[in-house]
Amino acid sequence: MDQPIEHYWQIRLSKLKDVLEGNNFEVFIAKDTGEAKSIVLDRILPSIGAKSVSWGGSMTYLATSLYEVIKAKAGLEILDTYDKSLTFEQSYELRRKSLLADLFITGTNAITEDGLLVNLDMFGNRACAVNFGPKHVILLVGRNKIVGDLDEAMYRIKNYAAPANAMRLDKKTPCVKTSYCEECKSPDRICNVWTITEKSFPKGRIKIVLINQDLGL
Ligand code: SF4
Repeated sequence: MDQPIEHYWQIRLSKLKDVLEGNNFEVFIAKDTGEAKSIVLDRILPSIGAKSVSWGGSMTYLATSLYEVIKAKAGLEILDTYDKSLTFEQSYELRRKSLLADLFITGTNAITEDGLLVNLDMFGNRACAVNFGPKHVILLVGRNKIVGDLDEAMYRIKNYAAPANAMRLDKKTPCVKTSYCEECKSPDRICNVWTITEKSFPKGRIKIVLINQDLGL
């Protein structure tokens, strides 16, 4: 068989799609980041008519290059929370405003085989926007985010995603040295807000693009 790993994941993603649709998410499967980009630009965006868009931290979103394309789109109000030229106060205010954007794009820290989305945030803006505020949400999700259950999701996030993110962001937290969560009290702590999303309400508000590649943390 050619590409047995992709074939394996295609079956797993297809099963997960059925489970997630049973939880009222709208779900798409993409073979790679290029196909994920086309799904967002050609199928999802034309169907929702968003006038404003924002996003929360997601390496997978950046990997699709959708960030550059959407930012340059005419006729869309862009609330760019990735803008590094903003002061802390400006960035904080933009994160607040992004909660009322028509569309919010991000990833998820983990997704369980029974269809739960599990997220842990520093500010809470990303995790909260997934659950309420923006009219539509698009989640771009690599196959490496799939875990068996809630315990595995929380372990993955606390002992892999969070330390690796703390390293990526040059935080001064103990996990940067040990690679494990030390339940720190550091001012740089990035683990402050947990959310678990069991179903999309209203139905179809959260659109998930499952990508048959390892992406993000
Ligand atoms: S709580 Fe602190 S030590 Fe644990 S993963 Fe988060 S930032 Fe790192």
